[in-house]
Amino acid sequence: MPWDIHTGSHGLPDAGHAPCVSRATPAPDDTFDRCGGSGRDRLIRRRSPRRTVLEAMRVPLSLLLVPVLALTACGRAESKENAAPAAAKGPAMMTVTPKISASGYDITPLPPSRVEELARKLTPEEYRITQKAGTEPAFCGNLLDNHKEGVYVCVVCGLPLFASAHKFNSGTGWPSFYREFDPEHVHRKTDVSFGMVRTEIDCARCGAHLGHVFDDGPAPTHERHCLNSASLKFYVTGETLPAESRPAKR
Ligand SMILES: [Zn+2]
Repeated sequence: MPWDIHTGSHGLPDAGHAPCVSRATPAPDDTFDRCGGSGRDRLIRRRSPRRTVLEAMRVPLSLLLVPVLALTACGRAESKENAAPAAAKGPAMMTVTPKISASGYDITPLPPSRVEELARKLTPEEYRITQKAGTEPAFCGNLLDNHKEGVYVCVVCGLPLFASAHKFNSGTGWPSFYREFDPEHVHRKTDVSFGMVRTEIDCARCGAHLGHVFDDGPAPTHERHCLNSASLKFYVTGETLPAESRPAKR
């Protein structure tokens, strides 16, 4: 039986596969038949069974490559997935641990960008005093003669700074307190401006300038916290405080 160019064997063609070229009339080498190959091509295939084997391996190889590529792709996806939490860990590690005062308030120092944002709501006078360490004229502050019971909070960030229970009339023309609402809420630093050595007091949370503290106050502390009214905002007892003026949730 002659070699069948379509089945590659001496048997009959596969059922359902009509031969492209009659066995009796082989196709010229340089012509293409409807199966897409030239007669020369088929002859080469017949003479090179090794090539036929290699070609036969193409499909399985390509099939093998699919899972390999899929695994590679999955590997990449996994890498990205692994990378995501790693990236998420970055900012988490940068997170500042909240600092809570003894009286229960969040006194974590605010970043400059947040202070800048809060300072936009201030009046020019409040801005000059709290952000530029200014001083309001004596006997001009609106809280000097305030005798109501309540709390004085920072005009910038709302942190409670002083309480009416500690306010006294110093006769200086500025609101005066003999102690802070909580010592941790008021930061002290040396001020050598105007040829004097004084102790400046600032808000511990936002850094707003408040005034100065002197050692000529009444008992029991003998301190006099001399405040600018413009640095403070007063809430009468019973009035609803904003969230930033309330204790931190624990
Ligand atoms: Zn503040």
